[in-house]
Amino acid sequence: MTTPLDRSTAWAYEQGQPGPFSYQRDHHPAAAAAEEALGALDGGSAVLFGSGMAAVTGVVLTLLQPGDTVALASGAYYGTGKTFAALVRWGLRTVEFDQTAPPPDDVQLVWIEAPSNPMLTMPDFGAAVAHPAPVVCDSTVGTPLYVRPLAHGCDIALHSATKYLGGHDDLLLGAAICRDPGVAERIHATRRQLGLTAAPDPAWLLLRSLETIELRVRRQTETAHALADRLAAHPAVSIVRYPGFGGLLSFDVADLDAAMRVETSTRLIANRTSLGSTRTSMESRRRWEGERCPPGLLRLSVGLEDVEQLWADLELALDPA
Ligand SMILES: *Cc1c(COP(=O)(O)O)cnc(C)c1O
Repeated sequence: MTTPLDRSTAWAYEQGQPGPFSYQRDHHPAAAAAEEALGALDGGSAVLFGSGMAAVTGVVLTLLQPGDTVALASGAYYGTGKTFAALVRWGLRTVEFDQTAPPPDDVQLVWIEAPSNPMLTMPDFGAAVAHPAPVVCDSTVGTPLYVRPLAHGCDIALHSATKYLGGHDDLLLGAAICRDPGVAERIHATRRQLGLTAAPDPAWLLLRSLETIELRVRRQTETAHALADRLAAHPAVSIVRYPGFGGLLSFDVADLDAAMRVETSTRLIANRTSLGSTRTSMESRRRWEGERCPPGLLRLSVGLEDVEQLWADLELALDPA
C-alpha cells in the first residue's frame, strides 16, 4: 500500500475551523508524511522545501538578520556560496573557513558540509559545535546512513533531497532537519510566508524513494569503494578523493582538456550534472565552478550498475588507445 496522493490546494474547514491542512502553501499530506520519514532518518524535526536551495534560503532567512555573518566551509557546494552572495544586498556577510579547523569568531552562523561537494573533505564536528553560533551541516552527500549531524551536536541537518534521498533523477526537493522543534516551526513559517513549499508530487515520489535509500546507498558505497581503489592505481589519475563511504568521489586527470576527453568518452556513464542517482554520472566541475576547482577534476556519482561494467567504461575512457 502506498500513501494516497492528495493534490488539493485547499481543504474544507471542520465546523468552521481550519484542520491540519487548509492551504497547500502552508502544508499538505505528502509533505507531512515525508517530514515524518526524514525526521526519523536524521533524528529531528524536518521541514520539507521545494529544492535544496529553497531549504538553504529558508534556514538563512529564519536564523539571521541583516549585518550578520555566516562562516561557510570553503570548498562546500558552490551553489550555497552563490546563494549567500545573492543575499549580500539584503545585508548578509560571508566568510569562508577551513572546515577541518575551528570556525572564525564573531559569526552568527556556522555552515559546514559532510562531506563537501566535490572536494570530499569532512568537517571537524567537535570544533564546529564548540562555537557559540548555531551550526548547520549540509549532509546531502553523506546521507543519513553515514552522517548524522544532529548526533554530532549540530543544530540543523540540511539536504538536497534531489540527490540521494530522491535517488532517481526525477524529483527536486530539499529539507532542513532541526534538533529543536521550535526552530523547525520558525523555519516552517518562513517557508509558508516566502512560498518555498514543495509540491505534493515530488514529496510523494520522495516517500517512494525512502523505502530503498538504505539498499541504494549501501550498494553505491560498495561500488564506489572498488572504483576509488582502481582509479587510485591508474597511471592517468593523479588524485582520488573519497571519504570511505557514500557513492560520490572525485579524481583528477592531467588538465581540463583531458577531463573533457574522459567525460565525453564513456558510454555507460552519463555525462551530466547532479548526483545520487541509481544511474552513474560524471562531469568536469570546472565548467561550473571555475578557478576554485582543479582544472582536471572529474566528479563521479556512482549508481547501481555492475561494478565491472563501470570500471570497463572508465578504463576505456581513461586509456583511449
Ligand atoms: C545539489 C546540492 C544542493 C542544492 O540542492 P538543489 O536541490 O539542487 O536545490 C545543496 N547542497 C549540496 C551539497 C548539493 O549537492
